[in-house]
Amino acid sequence: MTRSRTVSVYSGEALERYGFGDGHPFGLDRIHAFWDEMHRRHLDYQVQVLEPVMATVADLGRFHVAEYIDKVKRFSELGEGLLDYGDTPAYKGVFEAAAYVVGSTVDAVHRVMRNQVRRAFVPIAGLHHGMPDTAAGFCVFNDCGVAIKVLEDDYGLERIAYVDIDAHHGDGLYYPFEDDPRVIYADIHEDGRYNFPQSGFQHEVGKGEGRGRKLNLPLLPRSSDEEFLLMWDKVEQFLDGWKPQFVLMQCGADGLAGDPLAHLHYTPAAHRRAARSLCRIAEEHAEGRIVAVGGGGYDLRNVGKAWATVIDAFLEAPM
Ligand SMILES: [Zn+2]
Repeated sequence: MTRSRTVSVYSGEALERYGFGDGHPFGLDRIHAFWDEMHRRHLDYQVQVLEPVMATVADLGRFHVAEYIDKVKRFSELGEGLLDYGDTPAYKGVFEAAAYVVGSTVDAVHRVMRNQVRRAFVPIAGLHHGMPDTAAGFCVFNDCGVAIKVLEDDYGLERIAYVDIDAHHGDGLYYPFEDDPRVIYADIHEDGRYNFPQSGFQHEVGKGEGRGRKLNLPLLPRSSDEEFLLMWDKVEQFLDGWKPQFVLMQCGADGLAGDPLAHLHYTPAAHRRAARSLCRIAEEHAEGRIVAVGGGGYDLRNVGKAWATVIDAFLEAPM
C-alpha cells in the first residue's frame, strides 16, 4: 500500500514569525528544525502542505477576553512590554503571529470536520499555557482552547479528547475546561513539584460536570519510555472508555532526553506510540478525526525528531 497524501501539515512564512529573539528558548528556528528533519527522512513530499490562516478577533474571543486581546494588539504595535510575568515578551507583530497560530489550528479542525483533510499537524501550535486573560510560558493565544470552542459551538461535539504529552502540564486547557464535561482531557507530564507550571496532580480529575473526565498523570524527573508507556496504557483505556468524537493531540518535544527546560528522558518511541494509538482511537470512535499540534521542545534536534515521528506515525497508521 502506498502512503498517500492523507496527512496535511501547515507551513509558511506566517507561522515562522511566532517565536522570541535574543536567545529566548522559544526561538524562531524551531519550525526550520522540523522541516529539516522532515526533508532528511523524505517525509516532506509525502504530506500535503497547507497555508497558515490568521484567526479573526471573533475566533480569539471564543476563548480569550476582549481586554486581553486588546492588550496584545497594543503591545504588538509598540513592540515591547511583557505579556505575562516575564517569560513571554511582546515584539512587533506578535499579535498577528499568534493569531496565525490559532487560525491554523482552527483551520485544521474545520478541514478535518468537513472531510477535506484526514489527519493534520500544525507545528508551533499547541500553545497550551495561554489563559483566557493572560499569556504564560511563551504562549500568547491558546490555539487549542479556541479550537475546542469551535468544536463545541460550531459542530456541537459532546466528547472532544484533548491529549497532551508535552513535558509541562497543559494548564491553559485543564483549568478553563475543568468543569466542561465535553472535554475529555488526558495529560502525561513532569510532576508539577519539579517543573512549570507547578500543576497537574493526579487528584485533579475535573470539577462539577467535568469530574472524572480529566486524567492528569505526572511522572518523576528522569522518567523514560518505560514509565511513559505504563502511563500511556491508562490514557488509552480512559479514552476508549469515553469514545471521543474528535482527537486533539499536543505532542510537545520537551519530554525527550536533553531538553533544557524539562527533566524527562523519553525517546521518540514515546511520540510514535502515542500518535499511533491516537490514530487507532480516532479511527475507532471519531470517524478518523485527528489534529496534532507541535507544543514545546527547546532542543532543536529533539523538536525535529519528535514532530517528524508523529508525522511518520500519522502516515503509517491504518485508516
Ligand atoms: Zn512544554
